[in-house]
Amino acid sequence: MKPLLELVDVHRTYRIGESTVNALCGVSLTIERGEFIAIMGSSGSGKSSLLHILGLLDNPDKGEYRILGNNVNTLSEDEQAGLRNNVAGFVFQQFHLLKRMTIVDNVRLPHIYSGLKGDFRHEAIERLKLVGLEKRMDHTPNQLSGGEQQRVAIARALIRDPLLIFADEPTGNLDTKNSGDIMKILKGLHDEGKTIIMVTHEPEIAAWASRVITMRDGVILADERKAGLDPSVETAQEIEFETHLAGNGALWRDGRFTGFMAQAVQSILANKMRSFLSVLGILVGVASVIAMMALGEGAKAAMQEDLKSMGSNMLSVRGGSAKIRGAAQGAGAVARFTFKDVEDIARLRSLVKNASGVVNGGGRIVYGNKNWSSTVTGAGYEYGTMRAVMPTVGRWFTPEEIQRREKSAIIGVTVVKELFGSSNPLGRTIKINRINFKVIGIAPAKGFSGPQDEDDVVIIPVTTAMYRVLGREYLSGIFVEVTESGKIDQAKIAITELIRKKRRLKDDDDSFNIRDMTEIQKMLSSTTQTMSLLLGSIAAISLLVGGIGIMNIMLVSVTERTREIGLRKAIGARKSDIMMQFLVESVGMTISGGFIGVVTGIGISIILSTFAGWAVKTSLISVVLATAFSALTGIFFGLWPARKAAELKPVEALRYE
Ligand code: ADP
Ligand code: MG
Repeated sequence: MKPLLELVDVHRTYRIGESTVNALCGVSLTIERGEFIAIMGSSGSGKSSLLHILGLLDNPDKGEYRILGNNVNTLSEDEQAGLRNNVAGFVFQQFHLLKRMTIVDNVRLPHIYSGLKGDFRHEAIERLKLVGLEKRMDHTPNQLSGGEQQRVAIARALIRDPLLIFADEPTGNLDTKNSGDIMKILKGLHDEGKTIIMVTHEPEIAAWASRVITMRDGVILADERKAGLDPSVETAQEIEFETHLAGNGALWRDGRFTGFMAQAVQSILANKMRSFLSVLGILVGVASVIAMMALGEGAKAAMQEDLKSMGSNMLSVRGGSAKIRGAAQGAGAVARFTFKDVEDIARLRSLVKNASGVVNGGGRIVYGNKNWSSTVTGAGYEYGTMRAVMPTVGRWFTPEEIQRREKSAIIGVTVVKELFGSSNPLGRTIKINRINFKVIGIAPAKGFSGPQDEDDVVIIPVTTAMYRVLGREYLSGIFVEVTESGKIDQAKIAITELIRKKRRLKDDDDSFNIRDMTEIQKMLSSTTQTMSLLLGSIAAISLLVGGIGIMNIMLVSVTERTREIGLRKAIGARKSDIMMQFLVESVGMTISGGFIGVVTGIGISIILSTFAGWAVKTSLISVVLATAFSALTGIFFGLWPARKAAELKPVEALRYE
């Protein structure tokens, strides 16, 4: 039968900067099944280094370590972790219990990494009974004495029924009475056939063992077996090395992942204030993304509503060049339009739904002792529906009124406010440029379009405006409503040809221009688009800052829990397990921040719309986007700290102060 453990000329050297420490200088050793070994020697003689190598917590620089004849130093880190979980139990001088967990949870902890099904509570209680602590199973380590904590650690070492128990100064922190208790338990385990390897520098403790190895300066000085305490080779069961190498469970299998979730929740709750503060960053980020995007979308929707009120599919035909508008008012360069032109355009039946001539001018409006300057628009009959200015109070002109050049006026709400205050203007007589007009309607409120108050208007029949008020012979322009939006360009071309033909104008003539409202619409919506993009990116930056906050906290958490990571690795956690544990934690934080942020963001939007009257529109897209982004933030910013934790070597992590 091959020996259980075998070291052949093992060396271990530590390098700190320039200097090197030779902790083990050529150690050869054979350990049989059922032995109880005490490794003795003064401080710094290499006892712990030897134990770490035997326990697969560390690997030799030179030499070979065989378990059951298999070289284990060539195994991957994860395979070694699996082997530790399956065949070894560890007891440390500092106990290394996880403070946040109850005793029973501490004892069953190795099972998270075993890949076996079940909650193992019952098994944990069994082991606690063995060390006489079943009554304390729901306590936390802080509520236990040192001796009791070490007994819990032994129970934990036994949970996987290991072949080997490694104990590094198990009684180093305990008084004589408690030391005696611990040794009795270890002796009992040895009697049951367990192989025990224990480091100690106290002869009284070493006296419990059946074999004492003495070290000095990295080499074995003496190796004595005590007579009458022979290894119980016969009682040891035959073991298959390969079965212990088997992978210890996939991540998603057997509740391994839910185990990580539970631990993440536990760890987040253990540092409530700190977790809350780092979650706050994500919360603010997500809430502002939602609120800002709602604002942007709201502005866009309101703008579109406004554009609709300008009338859809509209063309405006005006005299003068489109290129040098304003400066092109020179004589001869400006086309003039008459009612005949309106008729001709309206006759383009397949393209034009409606056409209406307009004149614009200024006017002094007087009512009683109040007067007010406003724009006067002379409008044709169709203008009311085309430009959506049909009065909601009162009525629009009749065709006869327009024909008879009647003195009827429809006024905007700004004019109403300035001249009439809160009294009813309908049926009253106002003066427009000293001529009496009867108010027959109030134009629907439109608000501002840019700097222009769309409600500061007086609308009168186009004929009245031309011949009675403004004294014009020609129209200022013609509004054309195209039958459908797809025909706008076609209509533009047709109208241009019509006007040129009638006037015998050359092709490059620019004495008139046709403007397209959809151009204005496009321009305005691209402006709002830019605005929501800007708002969105500001919010995204705050989300980024929140993410960095999470990373910071995760890094602190990794550093703070280095020894915990060391312990987890010692009891069989693989790299991916540690990594996943920290990732789940950081993603958990960002996602919960994301959810509260979504709710807060929607709340802010509602408050803005109800109390400040702002147009807001929360979109599902922004909610989904923000939540997904917060999860990604968790992964992205959790990855580095999680990797950092996963890369730690078990021994180094355990030694961390
Ligand atoms: P013992 O357990 O017998 O007190 P160790 O095995 O812990 O001794 O240490 C043996 C020697 O190696 C000591 O001189 C110690 O300072 C050194 N040593 C141990 N671990 C490290 C390390 N991680 N880095 C540098 N030196 C170390
Ligand atoms: Mg030591």
